[in-house]
Amino acid sequence: TTSKPAPAPKPWIEAIHAYVPGKSAGADGRPLIKLSANENPLGTSEAALAARLQTVPPSLYPDPDSRALREAIAARHGLEAARVVMGTGSDEILNLAAQGYAGPGDEVIYVRYGFAVYDIAARRCGATPVVAPDADYGTDVDALLGLVTEKTRVVFLANPNNPTGSYLPKGEIARLHAALPSDVLLVIDQAYGEYVPAEDEDGAFALAATHENVLVTRTFSKIFGLAGERVGWGTGAPAIIDTLNRIRGPFNVSVTAQASALAALGDTAFIERSYTHNLEERARFVGKLEALGNHGLRPLPSQANFVLVLFEGALSAEAAYNGLAERGYIVRWLPGQGLPQALRFTIGKRVDMDAMADALAEMAEAAG
Ligand code: PMP
Repeated sequence: TTSKPAPAPKPWIEAIHAYVPGKSAGADGRPLIKLSANENPLGTSEAALAARLQTVPPSLYPDPDSRALREAIAARHGLEAARVVMGTGSDEILNLAAQGYAGPGDEVIYVRYGFAVYDIAARRCGATPVVAPDADYGTDVDALLGLVTEKTRVVFLANPNNPTGSYLPKGEIARLHAALPSDVLLVIDQAYGEYVPAEDEDGAFALAATHENVLVTRTFSKIFGLAGERVGWGTGAPAIIDTLNRIRGPFNVSVTAQASALAALGDTAFIERSYTHNLEERARFVGKLEALGNHGLRPLPSQANFVLVLFEGALSAEAAYNGLAERGYIVRWLPGQGLPQALRFTIGKRVDMDAMADALAEMAEAAG
């Protein structure tokens, strides 16, 4: 028998390491309290849950333009609805940005310890990812700018960044943008933007409204509590929005996703509650870890709904991860992203944050 060749994937696709999501259950299948994916511990707005059940029959396609939702987003942020593009989660928008503007031979820059999807987004369109060195787990604008070449097509920057929680202030974002060539697309990923206090706003929307080379992305997965519905969006110059609209799936935001996101946007009480909860519980948790002082647990400053904690003492991140799992908590350990010495804690309910802080204190004490 002659063996026939099997279809061969493109070599740049073969080089991709698939995204590894946080675990949601223990080794024995026992459900754990999941604080590994930066979901909203308060759940979802009641109004969004109700709207989700009142949608048109699933036999009908959704509005391909998500018009009502785009108009509500635009109104909330003082944008033009025509400058908003919707995605199946903001992941889709990030992928479309890479696909629309980069290809084989081109370079895509992001910072070390950046969001894992940037690498996949760059590689899947055949572009070469270029990783800029960090500055103590934050973004080093000068180091990033030093890597820009005539092949650079896209720069991805999460602000706040995941998994580090680091945040670039307005002046640094402006400086980065001003120094980039005008034909490089700067993608400012604000998946955690709603958690940033208004006075610390980074000016990304203003840049996207006034320049041809800036795309800002946001999501309904975090403060709006709709990660399971997969809704994200981007805003930028009309030419960018047009490019992304041409290559996105025509019905990429489902009927229930559009309806629940629209209602969630209007439930300002729920957003306010989620914001305040995060601010208070993050400070409380960080305070407890800082009180452990000499045990070498170092929480990094965070503007997001999670905290990255470095384990620099006798208690290792891996041992802490396993000890927390034994106590019913699943957090994020990221050895695959070059962070074997760190755990990322999503800010959950107070009872859980207190229990984890107590467990860490106990384990650090026992480790010596
Ligand atoms: N950007 C960042 C920085 C994120 O952390 C996430 C979620 N983990 C996303 C984008 C994508 O979120 P989604 O696709 O759910 O909108």
